[in-house]
Formats: sequence, C-alpha cells, structure tokens
Amino acid sequence: MEKRYPKFLLFRGELVPYGEARIHVLSTAVKFATTVFEGLRGYWNEDRQELYCFRLTEHFRRLSESMEIVRIPGPNEASWYIEQVVRIIRANEFREDLHIRVQVFIDADDGGLSSTEPTSVCIAAMPMGRYLKHDGVDVAVSSWARIWDRSTPPRAKAVANYHNSRLAVVQARIDGYDDAILLTPDGRVAEGPGYNLFLVRRGQLITPPVTEGVLEGITRDSLIRLAHDMLGIDVVERPVDRSELYVAEEMFFCGSAAEVTPILSVDRHKVGTGGVGDITNRLKVAYLAAARGLVPGCVGWLTPVYVTGADGI
Ligand code: PMP
Repeated sequence: MEKRYPKFLLFRGELVPYGEARIHVLSTAVKFATTVFEGLRGYWNEDRQELYCFRLTEHFRRLSESMEIVRIPGPNEASWYIEQVVRIIRANEFREDLHIRVQVFIDADDGGLSSTEPTSVCIAAMPMGRYLKHDGVDVAVSSWARIWDRSTPPRAKAVANYHNSRLAVVQARIDGYDDAILLTPDGRVAEGPGYNLFLVRRGQLITPPVTEGVLEGITRDSLIRLAHDMLGIDVVERPVDRSELYVAEEMFFCGSAAEVTPILSVDRHKVGTGGVGDITNRLKVAYLAAARGLVPGCVGWLTPVYVTGADGI
C-alpha cells in the first residue's frame, strides 16, 4: 500500500508541516528509546459523513499508565489529548480511515540515561486501511521470549519494548512466515509482536490473562465485551500452553492496527480446517461495526470528530 503523509503533525503544542517535526539525532529519545506511545484508529462513516475515533479515553488512560511506569512525565489528562487528536484530524481535513500515533518522549538534546525532562508530545494522524493480511496469517512460535514485568514491563507501551517485537517478526519473515507468537520466559503463550491473541478450543473462547507478558490491549477488552454482549460468549482468561496452539479450532490476533486478523497456521500446523473460523468472523464483523458507529450499545466508545467535536458524545 502506498504511504500517504499528512500535511500537519502536532508537535510541541503546534501544528507543524510534516517535514519540519524534527528532534536532534542525539536526543535522549533516540539514544535510549525514552518514548511511550499510543496507536489508535479513526473510522470514517460515509453515510453519516463522520469520522469516529475509537476508545480515546481508554487509550489515554493507558498512555498515562505507561508514563507512570517508565517515569516519563508529561500531560496526563485524557481530555487534553482528545482535544489535540480532534484538532490534528480537522487540520488535515481527513475523511477516511486513519491510524493515529501519539508519542510522549524525553526531548533533551544530548540528554543522559537518567534524564526525565523536558518531555514533548507529538501526534500524527495518517490514512490507513488494512494493516495485516486481511484474510489471515501464517505464524511461527518465536524462539525469542517475550519481555517480562521484572525487566521491561510489557504493560507499558514503551518504544523500547518493540525491540523484542522486532526481533520476533524479522526472524519470522526470514523463516518464511507472516508473523510470530511470543512465549513468556516460562513457555506460556503471551501475544504477537503488536497484537493480543485469542483462540478457540473445544468451543471456548480463550485469551491469556494480562499478567502473562502482554500489553493490556484495548481491542482485546472490546472483543471480550462484544463476545459477551453480541455473541453470548464469555471469554475465558487463562494461561495458554504452546501445544494448545497446535490443536486450536480457531485463532486470531487483535489490536488497533491488526483489528481482528485470523491466524491460519502455527508452525505449519493448520488452525482448525485452515480457513477463517465462525467465531473469529462474527467478532470481526461486530468489532468493525462498533468502530464505525453501527452498534448502538457501543457509541460511548466513539469520539466523533466533525459533527459534535471532542466533547460532544
Ligand atoms: N500487544 C502489543 C505488543 C501491541 O503493540 C498492541 C498494539 N497497541 C497490542 C497488543 C494491541 O493493543 P490495542 O488493542 O490497544 O491496540
């Protein structure tokens, strides 16, 4: 897919042309990866001529938790971030599906390892359709272990954590797979490099608990609620063994970027019959309907950008 750049970013509190949002090459953020971030989505509803941002309050609560965990101070009021997200989308006049990245980073020029200030915020909204292969992915269990809470807490959405994700996905691609599943240091299933994981076994919809080395995904939480409310299925949160992946009936990744992406095989073991499972499909439809404003019970998840604005739900 051709990448299209926005006209403006929000950078250090100002609307700045895309090419001018620069930091120094020796900033602490570059030297020591001192950045926390959020990735979220905006969905365009053509009939209503409205763009809906998905679960902003939850994303900015998680951002504030990430800042607290890794000791990067910065604005932590969800309402301020929500206003800024609406501002940057309107400034770019986007009327299509978007990915929005919000970064808070230590902006010290040639800063030291223990610098905690000054911090800056950057918000970028960019056009984005599908992120992963829509029809499904073939994945490998990575030989890299997932980072864990005693060293590099996965609960914080910190840029440094994605070194672990990158090792896994680059290795998987070299080995001929689309993507990877990471196990905890104890050998239980954690998640994908940038997505949580669900599987169906003996008709039960299962996902690892949030204490198993995963990011506390907002899509994961949304699917747990949609499974209950729309499919009448209670998700079981319990540790998952690697060998269970080989005998699962259905499996999928989920995340703001990945949405609901079916997993077709793991280590070349077919998942179910090798196609997209029924529960996976129904959840995917329910999730995208909710994100586009078509599920009345879920409109509270959405921030409309053009009609009512940041505070108008
Ligand atoms: N795990 C990781 C490591 C991620 O990077 C993401 C994407 N933010 C997720 C899970 C899914 O989280 P969310 O549904 O909040 O996007």
